This record gives sequence, C-alpha cells and structure tokens, in this order.
Amino acid sequence: MRVVTTLEDLRRARAALPEPVGFVPTMGYLHEGHLALVRCARRENASVVVSIFVNPTQFGPDEDLATYPRDLERDLALLEAEGVDLVWTPTPEVMYPPGFQTWVTVEELTRELEGAYRPGHFRGVTTVVTKLLAAVQPQRAYFGQKDAQQARVIIQMVRDLNLPVEIVVCPTVREPDGLAMSSRNTYLNPEERRAATVLYRALQAAKQAYDAGERDAERLRAIMREVLAQEPLARVQYVSCADPDTLRELEGPVERALLSMAVFVGSTRLIDNLLLGVEGGVYPRYRPPGLTP
Ligand code: AMP
Repeated sequence: MRVVTTLEDLRRARAALPEPVGFVPTMGYLHEGHLALVRCARRENASVVVSIFVNPTQFGPDEDLATYPRDLERDLALLEAEGVDLVWTPTPEVMYPPGFQTWVTVEELTRELEGAYRPGHFRGVTTVVTKLLAAVQPQRAYFGQKDAQQARVIIQMVRDLNLPVEIVVCPTVREPDGLAMSSRNTYLNPEERRAATVLYRALQAAKQAYDAGERDAERLRAIMREVLAQEPLARVQYVSCADPDTLRELEGPVERALLSMAVFVGSTRLIDNLLLGVEGGVYPRYRPPGLTP
C-alpha cells in the first residue's frame, strides 16, 4: 500500500494502478462504516484508492473542525489490512492553495434538510469531491447511505457535470444497538452514548408503522418526534419525511420516503436516516451513460 500527499505523487501512483479503480473519499478516523465502503470497492475493482482529508470548507465557523478526531497511523493500518492499493492524504495547502476561488454548487437539493442548518456545508463537500475525483480519476466512487443527502447531492452533481464516474451508495453500518457508526460518536460520554440510540429507535418506530400500512407523512414525522421526546438528553433539530429525489418535505400519503433527522445529544450533533419503499434501503447506483463497465 502506497501513501502519498502531493498531487504529483498521487498522479504518478494512480497512473500505475490496474483499472478499473474504485475510490473511497473519507475524513479519516475510520470505522466499520468506512471499511464497508472499502470492501465494496475492493470487490468491484482491480485497484482501490482511499483519500483521508478533513475538508475545512465543509465545516461551519461554529462547527468541530479543530476538534475533529484524527488517528492517521491507525487508519493506515486498517486500510492496509483491507488490501487498499493507494492512500492519498492531501494537506489543506494541496487542496486550497493561496488564491483559490472556484466552487461547485448544487442548488436546490442543498437548500433542504442538512443544508438548511449547515449553510455552506454542501458547497464544501461538492467542491472537494469534484477535486478528489478529478485528481484520482476513478471508474467508481463509493459513498455511505448514512449521509443520505450527501449521496443524493453527489449523484446530482455527477449527472449535471457529466463526470465519467459511477457512484455507488452502500448501506449504513450500525453498532449492535442500532447507533449509526460515525467518527463523531467518539464525542459522546457513556450516558450520551446510551441516549444516542434514540435516533435509531425513532426511525424504527416510523418504519414499523410504515410496514403496518401507515402512509401519512405527518403521522410518520409525529411517530419519530414522540420517540425522540422520551429521551431527555436529546434535542431535536429537525425530523423529516421527504421525497428521496427532491428531498422536499412530503405531505399526505407517501410510497417512497427518506426519513431523516438531526439531533443533538449533549453538544454532539448526530444524523441518521432510513429510506422507505426503495429496494435495499439505499440510493441505487448511478452509472453515467456510455461508460464501459
Ligand atoms: P466521513 O469520513 O464521515 O466523511 O465519511 C466518509 C464516507 O463514509 C461517506 O461516504 C460516509 O457516508 C460514509 N460513512 C460514514 N459513516 C458510515 C456508516 N455508519 N455506514 C456507511 N457509510 C458510512
């Protein structure tokens, strides 16, 4: 496994890799959710590239950029054990040199859900993902359903910009008690960690109602809010039952729905979601027209 930092080294190492290349962008502090993406990429491609970059432009001024957890040595050992070929660990100076002034923006989708509470977040995500894709030039890139809106926004971007890359979305990996794995779970103290299971319990309650025939969007939101209200350590930012394609809030009867929420547990902001009425519970892979498999 090679580990490179500069663009020059990345390009040289990338050019020598057998094709097709699968790519997994991450912010590091890896867990089983990340490793599931790596394994999926490993199965489908001759080579696997992983990037580790805590992207400053996707953090708001009051967010956790300075304290975001990092452990490069451990990350590299995990990736080596998964048979990854190449790891790119660019510095902020490599990605945002002095004078940087070009941004990629997906408009409507990023006004909804997370976008409403994290202004500028998706502009940072789409810009850095574009730069990472342009540098690595993978045939396929892998993202987690955990960040459902991010996956939807990236598929839109790849379509709109005609980027020659297939986007694969992999299921959310959870702890045994249902909590979605996240690098940010490390912020939770033991009491908060127990309380954090309330997100999954709220989603499951709504899913059970849906499976039993409940189709009213407002009722599904109410079921999630009722469960969340029972946890004193949880402070709800939003609870949503939205159209999986437009991400706009649904009213009335629903067939396909993205149930999602952002909840503070103590001072840690957690997100989670479930995709109802969609096969496999993940966004289907997006294969641009005319790409040879
Ligand atoms: P991050 O390092 O948090 O930026 O995440 C890198 C990639 O891993 C993103 O595509 C995430 O959606 C994905 N990811 C993070 N947590 C999980 C999880 N629990 N299950 C599946 N994918 C995940």
